[in-house]
Amino acid sequence: MKELKQIAEKIREADAVLVGASNGLSITEGLHLFAADEAFQNLFGDLKVKYGLRCILHGMGAQWPTEEEKWGFWSRLVHHYCSGYTSTPVMQNLKSIVGKKDYFIVTSNGECHFEMSGFAPEKKYEVEGNWLTMQCANPCHGKIYPAFDKLEEMAAEEQGGKIPSHLLPRCPRCGGPMEIHMAGGSWFLEDSDAKQNFHTFLEKYHNKKVVVLELGIGPRNQLIKAPLMRLVAQEPEYTYVTINLGELLIPDQIQSKSFGLDGYLDPILSQLKDVCQS
Ligand SMILES: [Zn+2]
Repeated sequence: MKELKQIAEKIREADAVLVGASNGLSITEGLHLFAADEAFQNLFGDLKVKYGLRCILHGMGAQWPTEEEKWGFWSRLVHHYCSGYTSTPVMQNLKSIVGKKDYFIVTSNGECHFEMSGFAPEKKYEVEGNWLTMQCANPCHGKIYPAFDKLEEMAAEEQGGKIPSHLLPRCPRCGGPMEIHMAGGSWFLEDSDAKQNFHTFLEKYHNKKVVVLELGIGPRNQLIKAPLMRLVAQEPEYTYVTINLGELLIPDQIQSKSFGLDGYLDPILSQLKDVCQS
């Protein structure tokens, strides 16, 4: 593919790579938030029968009858997709493509797979939060707490979708319930440190050569895609590469500095990695 050579050349010349990713990347990794597929059936078949749970996303936003059931769902989810995660070829290929360049990742994916694949935690901004941290549900204060160890304890004792009450997390300040730090209501706290790191990256590479590599973001996504495209329009030396299955919708304004690859992420990133290394 001629375009891949041109993209590889742009990456070679670039000062940094800015990765944008959404659920298309998760799906490539086998994590489908809104499918009632076999993986969902295997993991949550019992909760589907008991509560009419339709998909993971449904569970993430559900009004669970009790806190014990809410954390039963989350601990099982995290145990399966985070504790049980091994980095996938698509992530490893992305790592190779980025190589030794400076980079930053902006994503709406919350399952922390970038981090677990060896990308630096301080070089990512998870705009909708992540599954491995929690916050006060009120919220009475703005601190975000680690949740992974707690969730693993819960997962070990979860039965039939419920955890024992003594394992329920409590806000250290007000004693009230906690929520996983994922966008889902007005209580959601923005990760201001990560947002600041993103701004610092953008300041550092203002007027520099940056390849924006956008992975699996739907064409009408306003949260990540639209801001990234605006950024490319504003920055003269930025190149925009979007890989998505289906429509690509690259605006005329940035067409001349853009590459749109319509297809599955897995084979495209694998080929791009090969071209980058050749
Ligand atoms: Zn509180």
